[in-house]
Amino acid sequence: MWQSLLTNGTWKGELWDRRKSGKIYPKQLSITAVRDAGGNTIQYVAAFHDISARKRAEEEMHSLAFYDALTGLPNRRLLHERLDLALSVSARSKKFGALLYLDMDKFKTLNDTQGHEAGDALLVEVATRMKFCVREVDTLARFGGDEFVVLIEEIGAEEADATQHTALISEKIRAVLATSYIINNREFHTSPSIGVCLFQGNRTPGDELLKRADIAMYQAKDSGRNQVRFFDPQLQLSVDSRAALESAMREAITGQQFRLYYQIQVDRDHRPIGAEALIRWESPTHGMVSPIEFIPLAEETTLILDIGNWVLDTACQQIAAWSNNPLTSDLVIAVNISARQFRQPDFVQLVDAVIDKHQILPSRLKLELTESVALDNLEGVIAKMTALRENLGVTISLDDFGTGYSSLSYLKRLPLDQIKIDQSFVRDITTDSNDAVMVQTIIEMAHNFGLHVIAEGVETEAHMDFLKQRGCMAYQGYLFSKPVPHYDFELLLNHHLTLKGRIL
Ligand code: C2E
Ligand code: MG
Ligand code: MG
Repeated sequence: MWQSLLTNGTWKGELWDRRKSGKIYPKQLSITAVRDAGGNTIQYVAAFHDISARKRAEEEMHSLAFYDALTGLPNRRLLHERLDLALSVSARSKKFGALLYLDMDKFKTLNDTQGHEAGDALLVEVATRMKFCVREVDTLARFGGDEFVVLIEEIGAEEADATQHTALISEKIRAVLATSYIINNREFHTSPSIGVCLFQGNRTPGDELLKRADIAMYQAKDSGRNQVRFFDPQLQLSVDSRAALESAMREAITGQQFRLYYQIQVDRDHRPIGAEALIRWESPTHGMVSPIEFIPLAEETTLILDIGNWVLDTACQQIAAWSNNPLTSDLVIAVNISARQFRQPDFVQLVDAVIDKHQILPSRLKLELTESVALDNLEGVIAKMTALRENLGVTISLDDFGTGYSSLSYLKRLPLDQIKIDQSFVRDITTDSNDAVMVQTIIEMAHNFGLHVIAEGVETEAHMDFLKQRGCMAYQGYLFSKPVPHYDFELLLNHHLTLKGRIL
């Protein structure tokens, strides 16, 4: 301003000012220098006017152009703009995004029988409910009539992840919009049909994506309304099979379809020292399902807590049963604890209660944790582990060692009894010199920290010899036995005993 005044003698512009009342308002201001005969500036004359009304009108025009008057949501035009932007962002980030095309079922009936005001009230309620299902950064738009579009950005870097995540959000929206509405003091039932398409990068134009989501929406209507359908049949299939697996898993506990198998752990003289408890699922619909498939799925929901409690309870029951037999009374059972299970605020009490319930020696129970438990709140994790070891007397082993971050700094701080060398290193120790060095280093480091070491995935005598020579004293793997039910495990122990008898 001063520069312009000093050189040109005038300045003109818009600025915010504050009235005496304290109210802030926009004003247009122009200032002109008044000079005397000698050309010296003697005064400035300023003229201004309040432009609040004009600003308001401009804003209104903008919102008329870009927002839906009824719901206040972005309209078709703004959605197109945001979609184009989202596509170019995705082209750079390579992250997936999703478009949801949503249409309310039976909307016309409501409009025709109850009048347009009732229809409007429903749309406003739909918009309000949907806002709670999406993040601030997502765009929720009214596309016209009873059609809404949701643009979700940056939903994942992998297609499988993005698909499942989108399925979750869509399902949440479907469920929220399918509960009853009170319109004109009357209950009204309706539901949405939702079509979904994913995008990555900007190769497919926005119009085409909207068309796909729209087609999927019609498929949802055709297959009975109140549904979510993916445009890509392959993705739909993966969503369906996962949902089926999840609902089957929900019935597995009550249906007694889980089994706990035991895999023997031995010392350097092949003497049994314990067992790892490994869950098996015999599903009547899915057959034998590997824990590698269903545990990660269970971990995404609270199901893992129910499953984890069942495993812990069953393992402790087994410890109690074995405690009366001299052949088994010294065995330690290792139980896998998933991070979500460990994170429960009352996890220590839970373990305490199950030990108490079965009246077992706490030292017969070992908890296998993975490094993922230590990812957040290290102090809290340390406190919990200390309580488990010192107050309860159970032992703790760090599973899959070497596959995560395995940071030395927390290895030093975590109160552990044992680390378990992951089978991926053991597999090639006799052929791959990197793996050999890795395993040797892990063993030495564990010894320096005063920790026990066990190796998993020991399949051959050569594996065992290598590990034994490097100072690893405990072993688990197919060389000794596969995981088996407890009755087979007991047979296995008898077999060990007779073998030893023969040797002696
Ligand atoms: P993990 O805890 O690392 O268990 C070791 C896995 O290696 C088991 O697979 C076991 O059957 C397998 N294994 C044992 N010896 C050998 C061998 O010599 N060679 C080879 N190639 N594999 C061997 P499984 O039973 O399929 O379990 C897979 C994973 O599922 C487990 O890995 C664990 O992370 C999880 N899991 C199993 N049961 C439970 C459970 O009760 N709770 C939780 N949270 N996770 C479980
Ligand atoms: Mg394990
Ligand atoms: Mg493991």
